Amino acid sequence: MDRRAPWTPLELVRWTAGYFNGHQIESARSEAEILLAHTLGVRRIDLYLNHDQPLCDDELARFKSYIKRRVDREPVAYITGEREFWSLELAVNPSVLIPRPETECLVEAVLPFLDASGGPPKRVLEWGTGSGAIVIALAHEHPGHRYTAMDRSVDALQTARQNARTHRVDDRIVWFCSDWDAALAPGQETFDLMVSNPPYIRSGDLDGLQAEIRCHEPCMALDGSGDGLACLRHIIEVSHRYLLPGGILALEMGYDQRSDVQAIAAATGQYGLPRVLKDYSGHDRVVVMEKLAA
Ligand code: GLN
Repeated sequence: MDRRAPWTPLELVRWTAGYFNGHQIESARSEAEILLAHTLGVRRIDLYLNHDQPLCDDELARFKSYIKRRVDREPVAYITGEREFWSLELAVNPSVLIPRPETECLVEAVLPFLDASGGPPKRVLEWGTGSGAIVIALAHEHPGHRYTAMDRSVDALQTARQNARTHRVDDRIVWFCSDWDAALAPGQETFDLMVSNPPYIRSGDLDGLQAEIRCHEPCMALDGSGDGLACLRHIIEVSHRYLLPGGILALEMGYDQRSDVQAIAAATGQYGLPRVLKDYSGHDRVVVMEKLAA
């Protein structure tokens, strides 16, 4: 990309989109735009509005370093340090999974339980909050309830709290660090709603993931152990101890885990028949179960 004439944003977007295409990067043009807009500290649309304003040397050097990182398969969200989820801009880094669009289906699935106006505030717990995407989306939609979120990773909790502060919901969320329910005592804490996007990939499938995920995203947030179900199983088996009768447990799961998850829930004898919801691609993705009255 060395040449004498200064580069304009539009020329750079075109050149980079072609270069990314040559490196089998999907969404080449939109990623080129995101990285260039990030370099210049402008919105993507501004690249087209100020398309003939050439880049200075510093900007070009920074942009080149981003291009290099991207072709080294670093996810664009870790390069820019942000990803939008539920129309909220969230800070992300390699200590947290990059929020996925399908996880918005999990948020959508639980909103009806928080919608009812009036009544006492509901108590909501998120298991394994990562960037805080889910609990922050819920607290942003429904500020009147009481939220708690946990994670095993201190670094993830720091990122989640930073995001909660950015979106002014930190005062509505209690955070704690724990290996799932290790820090909770049954009977002391009760919740109306629990939600989680736990790790659910089979360990044997991790090697087959695209390099962006395999080499850069936290394995702790992806690895569901041998059968992929270890965390889902644990969460389903312990959640009823902390849920009120009639309380709801809503989980994201793999597209092929429906019958396993239903069997795990049935074996506890604690939940009604789980309801399965599909993601935007038509895959089974979210399971919602209600704790039976004692
Ligand atoms: N959906 C994620 C992926 O495909 C996995 C998320 C998870 O394990 N919770 O990478």
